[in-house]
Amino acid sequence: MKILVTGGAGFIGSAVVRLAIERGHEVINLDALTYAACLENVASVAMSPNYSFVQADIRDAMAMEALFNGHQPDAVMHLAAESHVDRSIDGPGAFIETNVNGTFTLLQAARSYWEAKGRPAAFRFLHVSTDEVYGTLGATGLFTEDTAYAPNSPYSASKAASDHLVRAWGETFELPVVITNCSNNYGPYQFPEKLIPVVILNALAGRPIPVYGKGENIRDWLYVEDHADALLLALEKGELGRSYNIGGENEATNIDLVRKICAILDELRPSDAPYADQITFVTDRPGHDLRYAIDPTRVRDELGWRPSVTVDEGLRKTVEWYLANGYWLDALLARHGVGERLGQG
Ligand code: NAD
Repeated sequence: MKILVTGGAGFIGSAVVRLAIERGHEVINLDALTYAACLENVASVAMSPNYSFVQADIRDAMAMEALFNGHQPDAVMHLAAESHVDRSIDGPGAFIETNVNGTFTLLQAARSYWEAKGRPAAFRFLHVSTDEVYGTLGATGLFTEDTAYAPNSPYSASKAASDHLVRAWGETFELPVVITNCSNNYGPYQFPEKLIPVVILNALAGRPIPVYGKGENIRDWLYVEDHADALLLALEKGELGRSYNIGGENEATNIDLVRKICAILDELRPSDAPYADQITFVTDRPGHDLRYAIDPTRVRDELGWRPSVTVDEGLRKTVEWYLANGYWLDALLARHGVGERLGQG
């Protein structure tokens, strides 16, 4: 397939690009190269004859039209987004512009291209979204695809809105769409403003390791390469108009996760004192959802997908990657807002 991947210089998008190329697909990586992007993430495939890169903004209707007509993709995997909840609290406007208006512009461009080509049945528009659209769970229960949307942050509200647009373009214009809602990802190349790289970075620098509130929030952690695998399966086998929840079956409280990372660092890069001594509880994020957990029955039964690693295996691989790739991390630390406490409301 010739796949247009949006946001392919970001964390998850780059994992999708690397895996799609490895599996023999042709990839056009479209990315605006915002603060969160890094072309180094796709350096391992950049010389492939099946890879091309276009710097463009999904909000730019003319650029999107030219891109579709010029490259004639068989499918779109839409990952470009503003993705950091804390930044969405400080500046929600960018989230509405990219996640809502940008998705609208991309849908319109995809639709006119698809219609001009005679509405090919094999065309796909895969929209990559988050489990955060469902809001928060209490101590029990799981998110299914039928759970009502109840987003609590500007980020999750903007993603929920984009999901609704994609669904509507499928129902009204019959654009062949599939939606995925995934739990928290972690792994190599994650931008150093998200929890796991922040923990590794601060631990190694001898700084306090910030944990929001009491660290009791629960997330269902998924290794990014497993997510990329699920997304390619959803593209190839997902039923039209259907959404798929993707989760790691790896629930952990933030404090347990941080302690696990500290223990791996103690083993791989021993210091004078245990890294866990650096853990510091800080003011909680406003509107911080207590618990996310995914019921993966549909993705497992219909697409035959399961995560390949446990959280212990995935965390070890991740810590090893960050220890071996300090140069990658260093290059991103100077970017706007990195290392600052954002999103206090
Ligand atoms: P990221 O912030 O690492 O990457 C986003 C990429 O999109 C960046 O390369 C950025 O330059 C690009 N981008 C942003 N605005 C753009 C625009 N207007 N036009 C073109 N490109 C633009 O994000 P990520 O963590 O890789 O997330 C990718 C997708 O997966 C997002 O849609 C996110 O909502 C979703 N998601 C993320 C997680 C997670 O845990 N990170 C979980 C579930 C779903």
